Amino acid sequence: MTENETTPGSNFITTIIEADLKANKNNGRLATRFPPEPNGYLHIGHAKSICLNFGVASTYHGTCNLRFDDTNPTKEDVEYVDAIMEDVRWLGFDWDDRLHYASDYFEQLYDFAVQLIRKGKAYVDDLNADEIRLHRGTLTEPGTDSPWRNRGVEENLDLFQRMRAGKFEEGSRVLRAKIDMAHPNLIMRDPTLYRIRKTSHHRTGDTWCIYPMYDFTHCLSDSIEGITHSLCTLEFENNRPLYDWVLDNVDAPCHPRQIEFARLNLSYTVLSKRKLIQLVEEGHVSGWDDPRIPTICGLRRRGYTPESIRNFCDRIGLAKRDSVVDVALLEYSIREDLNRRAPRVMGVLRPLKVVIENYPAGHVDELEAVNNPEDPNAGVRKVPFSREIYIERDDFMENPPKKFFRLGPGREVRLRYAFFITCTGVVKDDTGEVIELRCTYDPATRGGDAPDGRKVKATLHWVSAAHAVDAEVRLYDRLFSKANPDEKEEGKTYKDFINPDALEVLHGCKLEPILADAGPGYFCQFERMGYFCMDAKDSKSGALVFNRTVTLRDAWAKLQKKG
Ligand code: ATP
Ligand code: MG
Repeated sequence: MTENETTPGSNFITTIIEADLKANKNNGRLATRFPPEPNGYLHIGHAKSICLNFGVASTYHGTCNLRFDDTNPTKEDVEYVDAIMEDVRWLGFDWDDRLHYASDYFEQLYDFAVQLIRKGKAYVDDLNADEIRLHRGTLTEPGTDSPWRNRGVEENLDLFQRMRAGKFEEGSRVLRAKIDMAHPNLIMRDPTLYRIRKTSHHRTGDTWCIYPMYDFTHCLSDSIEGITHSLCTLEFENNRPLYDWVLDNVDAPCHPRQIEFARLNLSYTVLSKRKLIQLVEEGHVSGWDDPRIPTICGLRRRGYTPESIRNFCDRIGLAKRDSVVDVALLEYSIREDLNRRAPRVMGVLRPLKVVIENYPAGHVDELEAVNNPEDPNAGVRKVPFSREIYIERDDFMENPPKKFFRLGPGREVRLRYAFFITCTGVVKDDTGEVIELRCTYDPATRGGDAPDGRKVKATLHWVSAAHAVDAEVRLYDRLFSKANPDEKEEGKTYKDFINPDALEVLHGCKLEPILADAGPGYFCQFERMGYFCMDAKDSKSGALVFNRTVTLRDAWAKLQKKG
């Protein structure tokens, strides 16, 4: 265990929650919320926050709200609202009737702003955004007061009311908190609370032309909903004094406690909504559900299960310091889950035809195969064997080097669940490429063992040619070739590290006939080739498409062993 890890389920936040519950704070109540902004799709980083917020609520018999933080109409859309709800549900969490929108509080938030103005704690500023920035000062120098800072209460009330009524141009005025222009924390230097945006909102339409800023909205929404613990990522640590200041200076229904935790960073990927939007909009990937990106819908399409994502979130634990999690741990989590549950079948991805010359034409053997050696209840199935089969092209070499133990001229190997075969001839095309093998089989080895006890060094998977179903198979690699694509490098951005080979599409793959009946989202292991799922979008009966979720090779387990 690294110092950033804790026992699954218990961490510094649960310690705080347990202490608060024990002290009967909030009358022994626990209420959390997951507050996405509907300006993009959820990613695996959000899953960490979802598992935490819904997870502690369930552990401590509390509640968790889903709240859309929808205060920026220029970037938000119902498409995102719907997708976010689908993803949270798919992950296995339920907000019951606790679905909220910050935009439902616009009227109450306006009233809270008026309270601040009446107390002389907020003012309308006529400076524009650039001027405000220039007045803000720096970490080493204090800011300077706006010339409008000392407007009277009545004038402020009148101006704010006219801002709401649409009397002023966008950008011409804002409402600011009156705190301290020399405050050591720059966020506290009279932060903007409201700005004018003459844009229709996806829920409130044209009712409003002023919109509250995040820092004002978030704490008050928490308070209105009676949230007890407001869990957010570390980048909001500097905003906590403002969170508290707003709640202390209005008649807030309650004062939730903000606690920050480290956001999830994953190697070989990007987890910022802005960058994911760029990848989608600039066509580097096919859409939000492209299996190469770490969005929840992308992972779902790739074949990740909700269980594997929840287990991953448990495993990474919760820390107060930023770190990067090895993407191999995510891959380990899905491998572990599918190893337990995925039926094993045979699929030949790069087929090479084999004709078994001493096998009777037209005859079919129905061989018994184990569905899942990890699951005694999974049972067995019949796999047809015939004179012509396919094996994996890579399983044959005409001139095999020393360490290659699979098929070659004159060699004998086992076909999984079937027979021993020996390669007796090679057929080539005009270019010299091997296009077919000639073999003989030993009928006495039916089931995969030789009665005379002779051994073979390899077992190959195969599919009967006459019975095979054709499929397209998509293989994925990491989207970035660099462990930390966000790392600053002279003249480069993360986009310069996109791996052009992250998607490889194979056509004419040959699968066991049982897969003809599989439905969308079906997952399985193609023996020796990895875990696969049927693509929920592009796969059609008669034109099957499978995605490789993950390979069988387990880099993470190896690392753990070495360490
Ligand atoms: P991004 O930084 O990717 O643009 P965001 O923070 O703007 O994401 P929100 O919709 O505001 O996205 O996030 C909703 C919740 O999810 C917030 O509480 C946020 O802290 C949390 N969250 C976002 N990204 C991560 C992450 N990588 N790890 C953990 N929690 C995250
Ligand atoms: Mg955010």
